[in-house]
Amino acid sequence: MLEKNLIGGNWVGGAQALEIRNPSDLSDVIATYGLAGKGEVEAAFAAARKAQPAWGRATLEQRSLVLEAIARGIFDNKDRLAQILAREGGKTVPDALGEVMRAGHIARFFAGEALRMPGEKLGSVRPNVDVEITRDPVGIVGLITPWNFPVATPMWKIAPALAFGNGVVWKPSEKTPGISVAIAEIVAASSIPAGVFNLLIGAGPDVGAAVIANADAISFTGSSTTGRRIAVACAERLIRCQMEMGGKNPLVVLDDADLELAADIAVNGAFFQQGQRCTASSRLIVTNGIHDAFVKACAERIAKLRVGHALKADTQIGPVIDDTQFRKNLGYIDIAKGENARLATGGEALELETKGYYLAPTLFADTTNAMRINREEVFGPVATVIRVADYEEALAVANDTEYGLSAGVCTTSMKHARHFQRNVEAGMTMLNLPTAGVDYHTPFGGRKASSYGPREQGRYAVEFYTQIKTSYLLA
Ligand code: NAD
Repeated sequence: MLEKNLIGGNWVGGAQALEIRNPSDLSDVIATYGLAGKGEVEAAFAAARKAQPAWGRATLEQRSLVLEAIARGIFDNKDRLAQILAREGGKTVPDALGEVMRAGHIARFFAGEALRMPGEKLGSVRPNVDVEITRDPVGIVGLITPWNFPVATPMWKIAPALAFGNGVVWKPSEKTPGISVAIAEIVAASSIPAGVFNLLIGAGPDVGAAVIANADAISFTGSSTTGRRIAVACAERLIRCQMEMGGKNPLVVLDDADLELAADIAVNGAFFQQGQRCTASSRLIVTNGIHDAFVKACAERIAKLRVGHALKADTQIGPVIDDTQFRKNLGYIDIAKGENARLATGGEALELETKGYYLAPTLFADTTNAMRINREEVFGPVATVIRVADYEEALAVANDTEYGLSAGVCTTSMKHARHFQRNVEAGMTMLNLPTAGVDYHTPFGGRKASSYGPREQGRYAVEFYTQIKTSYLLA
């Protein structure tokens, strides 16, 4: 059993064993981890409480150098990290490498931000008084992250948390412990003082809940169901929270769109990384005039996608992450069939050379936005087409959802593109681009049930990871 919880600078074990297998080949046992329990959570917070005050007072340069070392560690180990991620998480190697590079860029970006800690000096309405507005760290931040971007998502929380002087207790998804340990090793190998950064491998309901009970703030990424529960727990403790949650992202395709480009965008946005992206284009909303040609073009492309072992060079679509997700996806395929959606392509589990969680990328046509398949997040290689009469109906259908993360439109009309950008209820909009795929230096987040709290990434991250102090000084 691997002793892979990082507490106060030491690697320690846990009582319960967790075996991880490769989703591309279930005979490949990757490792067995010792899961943290309540005692480890308490020890991690004690270590963080001891170390954070000095870290919060460290010079900006000290913190910047740590972030720079983390970025360098990620870049130097990029191929090794991509292999771990592909083996454990089922991502193709190019996808995994892309994610690892993104994490490195994020760390490098925050190495710069650490030096640019903002503040403000204002005049006072009173004579001989100065006003200074400064930012302090929040304290110990609990980071709870999912399995689908197990490198980039944690890094867009870890990097700003450290850059702005906070202590960190990170609880990654229990489905991807290997890559989490590899990232924690890189953080620990920087010049970061012991105890500032801690890793706990543990299950959500017990270790996650204990992290929430001890932290000064929680940054969470995961499903809306879990996020809602965590937001309530944070409110009870009156601690701040930042929640990035699910999506049911619309891609609108209008009659005047470039058909080939729109089909490429839809297939990329819906199926790459097995559709396991919170920004995946799961609802394709298509106007009458282009509808039939678009469905045909997509179905042809989807049928040609090469599903296979994530570590094989020619694989485009790997397996889904685990048995729970595999069954959930198949369950939604049955639900869609039961709702009389027309199966345009896919719709089945695949048996390949190695036993794994392989699904044929699946497209349903002739669906309505009222169907369960269009209301609930599947989080797998399953997308639907909804036929609409015109742009106005397309926009109304796009907005008729509890989610609001990313929304795209394929059109050559400036009028519709601008109207969509202004009126779609989403945190991120895309013009002639897939709904998934964002930059690392810009704010990331959504509206409605997709996000709650301040934005992540870019300059906006400072809002969550610092607290403001207003000081009045007699001159
Ligand atoms: P999940 O909600 O099941 O788990 C997320 C994390 O929360 C995990 O670390 C898990 O252990 C923990 N957790 C679970 N129950 C908990 C509890 N009661 N208390 C504390 N922690 C708990 O989500 P998942 O299956 O890991 O990830 C998939 C979901 O994440 C999808 O809904 C996807 O859309 C969403 N996601 C959102 C974004 C975004 O930025 N908006 C990015 C990636 C993934």
